[in-house]
Amino acid sequence: MSEVKRLTAPVPPGGTIGILGGGQLGRMLSLAAARLGIKTHIYCHDDKAPAFQVADRHTCGEFDDRKSVEAFAESCDAVTFEFENVPAATIELIAPLRPVNPGAKALRFTQDRLEEKTFIQSLGLNTAPFFSVASDADARRSFAALGGPGVLKTRRLGYDGKGQIKVKTVDDTVAAITSFRHAPSVLEAFVDFAFEASIIAARGQDGSIAAYDPPENSHENHILRRSVVPGRLSDGQVQEAKTIAGKIAGALDYVGVLAVELFVGRDGTLLINEIAPRVHNSGHWTLEACAVSQFEQHIRAIAGWPLGDPVRHADAAMENILGDEAADWRRFANRHGALHLYGKSEIRPGRKMGHFTTLAPLTKSPSRS
Ligand code: AMP
Repeated sequence: MSEVKRLTAPVPPGGTIGILGGGQLGRMLSLAAARLGIKTHIYCHDDKAPAFQVADRHTCGEFDDRKSVEAFAESCDAVTFEFENVPAATIELIAPLRPVNPGAKALRFTQDRLEEKTFIQSLGLNTAPFFSVASDADARRSFAALGGPGVLKTRRLGYDGKGQIKVKTVDDTVAAITSFRHAPSVLEAFVDFAFEASIIAARGQDGSIAAYDPPENSHENHILRRSVVPGRLSDGQVQEAKTIAGKIAGALDYVGVLAVELFVGRDGTLLINEIAPRVHNSGHWTLEACAVSQFEQHIRAIAGWPLGDPVRHADAAMENILGDEAADWRRFANRHGALHLYGKSEIRPGRKMGHFTTLAPLTKSPSRS
């Protein structure tokens, strides 16, 4: 790979940050950038991308369209992305032209579940036991080694429960890898967790870290339904979650916001499910409950600005508005709280259409470190 361009001075107000991907995360990043007087240029293949509606500029193009990607990069002072499945080749094309963060290392370890879990364990952090599976023989061997229920997940391109199947027997496991057409996968132990949580943290260009209080998350049909902060994590678990995020961000030379999804075991241990190298749905409550949201924090990091204060000033509960629940927008508009609708032109079952956040006075001091 040719040389990687680094930021030599902060992107000033009036400058432009390029964002690869035009979904709701790109939209909320653009709105946060606008508050700082920074423009955004969105790159997305979908001509109805929600972020196009709120950005200074957009390009409707494919990630493998070399000319279009280069022209986009050259129009920006720095580049980032809002989803982790941007092809590595696109980032490699941009990297010599403009500073692009999070970098290639973060993408490599988060686009592939096997690499990701191996990396996490190499840092001395905990994941559920896992095995690489690509054949019927692997499936049989791995299920026997696991000795209990598991989840087979494709190594690449899975999200919100897509590309994963719960397995209870060796026959289930063989059927699951067959249904994935023997795509490289991992079999991991099914975790009987007490609850799920996540830690969202930013790392600045100077290596400083700002972590938010970790929310407790609940899922329905593998899709995030609700995030609540403070959750049931003990003070010790809150600190441990922050240490985990700092360790991962440091090891990846990370710049920007990342989220680490956690299973909180019944014995109190924190197991890492996955790392998202981007702003995260379970951090949307930071828009109202913190002076500097996860979106502004990411823009600050990408632009080489100092990170802002992540301390929350309220308790918060965020619920997603999914699929045709969005047709009921009047009901949300009548409630006390903050309504966010993403401007998606089409309602599909389970699609993230918006979210709604309610605040309440602090019941517990927010953690400050
Ligand atoms: P993922 O796509 O890996 O983030 O998984 C989506 C959701 O599926 C998680 O948030 C959990 O609710 C559930 N899940 C995934 N992996 C496991 C596992 N090994 N054990 C129990 N539940 C899981």
